[in-house]
Amino acid sequence: MTTLTPSTITAPQLTIDGRVCGSSRHLAVIDPSTGAPFIEVPAATPAQLDEAVAAATAAFPAWRATPLGDRQALVGRLGEVVRAHLDELALMVTMEQGKPLANARGEIGAALRQVDFFTGVSIETEVVRDDEAARVEVRREPLGVVGAITVWNYPVLTAMFKLVPALVAGNTVIVKPSPFTPVAVLRLGELFQDVLPPGVLQVLAGDDDLGRALAEHPGIRKISFTGSVPTGKKVMASASGTLKRVTLELGGNDAGIVLDDVDPAAVGADLFWAGFSNGGQVCAALKRLYVPESRFDAICEAITAEAATVVVGPGLQEGVKAGPVQNKPQLDRVRELTEGALAAGGEAFHTGEIPDGPGYWFPTTLIRGVAEGVPLVDEEPFGPVMPILTYRDVDEAVTRANDTEYGLGASVWSPDLDRATAVAERLEAGSVWVNQHPVVTATVPFGGAKQSGIGVESSLHGLLEYTAIKVINVKR
Ligand code: NAD
Repeated sequence: MTTLTPSTITAPQLTIDGRVCGSSRHLAVIDPSTGAPFIEVPAATPAQLDEAVAAATAAFPAWRATPLGDRQALVGRLGEVVRAHLDELALMVTMEQGKPLANARGEIGAALRQVDFFTGVSIETEVVRDDEAARVEVRREPLGVVGAITVWNYPVLTAMFKLVPALVAGNTVIVKPSPFTPVAVLRLGELFQDVLPPGVLQVLAGDDDLGRALAEHPGIRKISFTGSVPTGKKVMASASGTLKRVTLELGGNDAGIVLDDVDPAAVGADLFWAGFSNGGQVCAALKRLYVPESRFDAICEAITAEAATVVVGPGLQEGVKAGPVQNKPQLDRVRELTEGALAAGGEAFHTGEIPDGPGYWFPTTLIRGVAEGVPLVDEEPFGPVMPILTYRDVDEAVTRANDTEYGLGASVWSPDLDRATAVAERLEAGSVWVNQHPVVTATVPFGGAKQSGIGVESSLHGLLEYTAIKVINVKR
């Protein structure tokens, strides 16, 4: 057996109509720990997108007619394929995304929990009337061809979040991964061809223009998109031409409110990781922490104690807890927001170590002495920096937490669960967590309020977003 090393990775190809194929166009994929390309993969042309849509359209009638249990059995086999290739896929994720190998394996484990959950659900027909005069059934039917457009922070997980429920519901799917991280998802596409009929699942790498073409394509019935708020708006506009259904999982600027009865030492590590898991590149990471004045110094100290344990370095290096920022534009943005906060009078009270040399390195950074009006507080940094703010009373903290167009997640921290839950009820977000942040699982719906998104993923609610209601109304 060959040992897996970065040099053993061979470039995965596009998948169209059950075939693995190259292209006249290419994408160079950068290893963010070096800032240099490590592989080149094919990028789909507009003609290849048309071919894929035609194949997905042709595959749809037979796939939708396949009984749910049989579709679930095949999707379960996709899970087995992922398990059998976990080492290879995790290595690819670390190489292209930058995260430590253990976290890449964790990402794929979370993707497998999507498979476990959705292969066990049932899609019920609702009988709303059944008497001597009529029988009225509300059925759930698949939509057709689904376009799944994904992002670079969790390349495998965001793709599996979409393709697993979409396939189980009876749709055919075309996945377009982020141009920054196409490798592992292209490989999934190759591996899945051995299990699924041609055209049922295809993966096309490509740039933003391919995403736009997918969102506009008249042969596609639904777009499930994960990415930023501005791109989400463009996707919705593109989709409107053919009134496609959309699920939009967008950015956030999640607030956390620490109540005045917390024990700082008990929550310090959890507060830190709420903001800094995956190097802060988590849509529903804690991005603004509100702390009562009476607890401020103690909380800052407790978070710093955990921050000091973090070793930042290449994801394949032993002992590393955080990798680089995934791409250069994101690194520039994190730098700009951090420098802006410092210029506005903020204090970086913890700045971690980073490796010397090239790579998109940014130190773990904790900032205080800033408030609303500073872009680091008002906007989403999506990187390893977090502002910690003070508040005087809880009403004020709730108002400030809600004063944003984002509404993905939020959290409240207190040993008094009733008190914390009462505050949680007042926060405007798709998910509000108590004494944790974020928690995203296959069984619980996840989605954004306000401009953080439309619709949810995970759970039966997420599955039903890949269906349309059809009423059968029989007069007796
Ligand atoms: P982005 O919006 O720039 O890109 C995401 C995807 O959209 C890529 O595949 C890209 O090629 C494609 N794309 C770009 N322009 C397009 C267009 N006009 N039409 C169709 N597709 C297009 O995302 P980003 O800024 O690189 O990613 C970070 C953002 O993603 C953050 O805001 C983060 O919070 C968010 N995110 C949200 C979730 C969630 O579940 N809510 C999860 C992960 C990340």
